[in-house]
Amino acid sequence: MIVLKFGGSSVADAARMREAAELVRAALPRSPLVVLSAMGKTTNGLFEAAKTAEAGDLAGALARQRDLMAAHRCAAEDLFAGAVPEALDGSLTDLFGELELLLRGVAMLRELSPRSMDAIASLGERLSTRIFAAFTGGAWVDARGVVRTDAVFGEAVPQSAAIRELAAAQVAPLLAPGQAVVTQGYIGGTEDGLTTTLGRGGSDYSAALLGAALGAEEVQIWTDVEGVLTCDPRIVPDALPIPDLSFAEAAELAAFGAKVLHPATIQPAVEARIPVTVRHTGKPHGRFTTIAAEVRTGRPITALASRGPVTVLTVSSSRMLAQSGFLARLFEVFGRRGVSVDLVATAEVSVSLTVEADVPLKALVQDLAAFATVEAHEGRAIIAAVGERLKSTPGLGARLLTSLGDINVEMISMGANEINLSLVVKQEEAAEALRRLHRVLAGGGA
Ligand code: ADP
Ligand code: ASP
Ligand code: MG
Repeated sequence: MIVLKFGGSSVADAARMREAAELVRAALPRSPLVVLSAMGKTTNGLFEAAKTAEAGDLAGALARQRDLMAAHRCAAEDLFAGAVPEALDGSLTDLFGELELLLRGVAMLRELSPRSMDAIASLGERLSTRIFAAFTGGAWVDARGVVRTDAVFGEAVPQSAAIRELAAAQVAPLLAPGQAVVTQGYIGGTEDGLTTTLGRGGSDYSAALLGAALGAEEVQIWTDVEGVLTCDPRIVPDALPIPDLSFAEAAELAAFGAKVLHPATIQPAVEARIPVTVRHTGKPHGRFTTIAAEVRTGRPITALASRGPVTVLTVSSSRMLAQSGFLARLFEVFGRRGVSVDLVATAEVSVSLTVEADVPLKALVQDLAAFATVEAHEGRAIIAAVGERLKSTPGLGARLLTSLGDINVEMISMGANEINLSLVVKQEEAAEALRRLHRVLAGGGA
């Protein structure tokens, strides 16, 4: 069997859904499991409706609900040329009724817990899959009964062993050549039947989890670009598609901000050694990227990515050298505050590290000030250059740093896996830094 995952832009309206349905039809001999995102920007719309309700503006929230309803009904009407099947019509009515009830509850309590938010966010994928399953004649599966997660709402952690069992019981029997099975990305459920989500952009992750659970031959990620590109095309318009990518490179790129893949996507596929391809729904015969364990690209730099804003903390202690256990003490502070540290660079008397922008900075600085001097610089960005021969290519670091010219690099870190060179610059200079570094990559200078 294979997994085909379509992102939001690939199912944004009736025309896009027809293209996606055509690709599913072509894949029918390979027993496809179709994993869908919500239509277009529906998830954003659901978040806005929920926040509007939380602010006590019920009328505003319900107006957004009606806009979403109109868009979904319009797509269904178009796909079925005005004759929407009764069962689909009933499902849409039920789902929008559920959304209205949830929004009324949030508005009444003026309280939006992550748990309520997940219940509301789940509607996007449940709606898109109902329409798509009806249109393609595929069997509809409720992912909340298959993608078992813990109860960390908004960022739930999938439980692979349970997912394997549930997929074997509920999805595998439906898979057959000539038959499509349609389910939701992004959403899951706890053992108690509560609705969860895997975090924004989580549909890729769902596709990889289900592919791994079912032993797929391939996981196809259908999106709006011709694969993973050498840089974010919104920043570097002449970024080029990468034909093949190693799992390690793809995982680094995803973790360092290449939005094309959810950061955790790769893991379940790597473990199951399933190739992942990234393809353009609008250009199915165009170029695409294959990500596979066997791929050894051997390139010095494969691609660039950036993530920000982040905060750089520089912790100094003149007595540091003499103090064994200094680093243990330092990291204990971050551990206790539940803050994860990203990049680390150490010098004789100081340690620089990056943390996300939303950490409890004041509390951290206070804790650290008990045994060291701390400086915090907010509004920074991490730029990652990823490539398998990065470390063994003489002079590459010099070429990259030279290309940056007057852009100040505040921190440099070579990932432990040696395929990621990370630089920290001011957030407002990150785009220009990417463009300059990309010239080195594209010009063969790398
Ligand atoms: P989908 O809705 O299909 O999941 P996303 O919007 O999540 O699609 O991801 C695709 C987008 O990721 C592209 O349109 C592109 O703007 C952005 N992107 C960022 N970095 C990269 C990259 N290195 N390669 C390709 N796309 C990238
Ligand atoms: N619909 C979800 C989101 O917008 C998940 C996804 O598209 O991957 O975040
Ligand atoms: Mg995505």
